[in-house]
Amino acid sequence: MPHNYRNFSPQYWEEKTLAPSAVLAYVGLRRKLDVPHHNIVVNGKWEEHFNSLFGQKRWPPPSSISYYVSVRSKSDPTVCPEDREALFFLIPVAPGLRDRERELKLAWWAVQDFLGEVEDVEFLKVFGPEDFERDYHAYMGTAFGLAHTLSQTASLRPPLRNRRLRNLYHVGQYTHPGVGVPMVVISAQLVSGLILKNQKN
Ligand SMILES: Cc1cc2nc3c(=O)[nH]c(=O)nc-3n(C[C@H](O)[C@H](O)[C@H](O)COP(=O)(O)OP(=O)(O)OC[C@H]3O[C@@H](n4cnc5c(N)ncnc54)[C@H](O)[C@@H]3O)c2cc1C
Repeated sequence: MPHNYRNFSPQYWEEKTLAPSAVLAYVGLRRKLDVPHHNIVVNGKWEEHFNSLFGQKRWPPPSSISYYVSVRSKSDPTVCPEDREALFFLIPVAPGLRDRERELKLAWWAVQDFLGEVEDVEFLKVFGPEDFERDYHAYMGTAFGLAHTLSQTASLRPPLRNRRLRNLYHVGQYTHPGVGVPMVVISAQLVSGLILKNQKN
């Protein structure tokens, strides 16, 4: 959008606290696993991982990462043949990081940590911060938009209606009320209500 129609300057966005990005790994496994659908693995040095997300904003050392694993095939038999498993790994990382090699290293580390051995991995696709930026135009490759800090809550969040182009509305995880599917659905409801109200006026 031309600069003179934007609500905020690039500097405004640079000063904002973004929610984390993520390294995702989609895995096809040539054997069955005895685990539940949802799995959260918290490793010993979780503070190191936490600080890398919100403090130093750097790649976490693989050995300190905590991560989430969804074994989709445990509740949906249509996603792979019955003697196999389809898994999805989510490793939170700081927004703005770009390094394919590190993404792959983190992904493989988590896969190995969870599975024990990786010989039966027949498919692995990694999706990282650069992919969020390229495929979804996510600012700094954030996976979850604008963080829910006190100074980015309620009226301190970017508004739903553009201040300069009055027929332009904003919706989703960078605006009201916040991040996550239920929130962005409410955001859409709020915007549609606002449009109807402003049209009547
Ligand atoms: C891996 C992951 C797991 C998650 N898990 C959960 C969960 O379990 N529960 C939960 O509640 N939330 C979860 N979330 C968060 C939730 O998905 C997001 O908060 C929500 O989808 C954001 O919705 P949105 O409409 O703001 O943005 P998006 O869903 O990112 O949609 C924006 C769309 O706009 C398109 N776009 C961007 N720029 C342009 C352009 N210039 N022209 C045209 N189109 C454009 C993008 O391609 C995209 O399709 C998760 C997010 C991720 C990444």
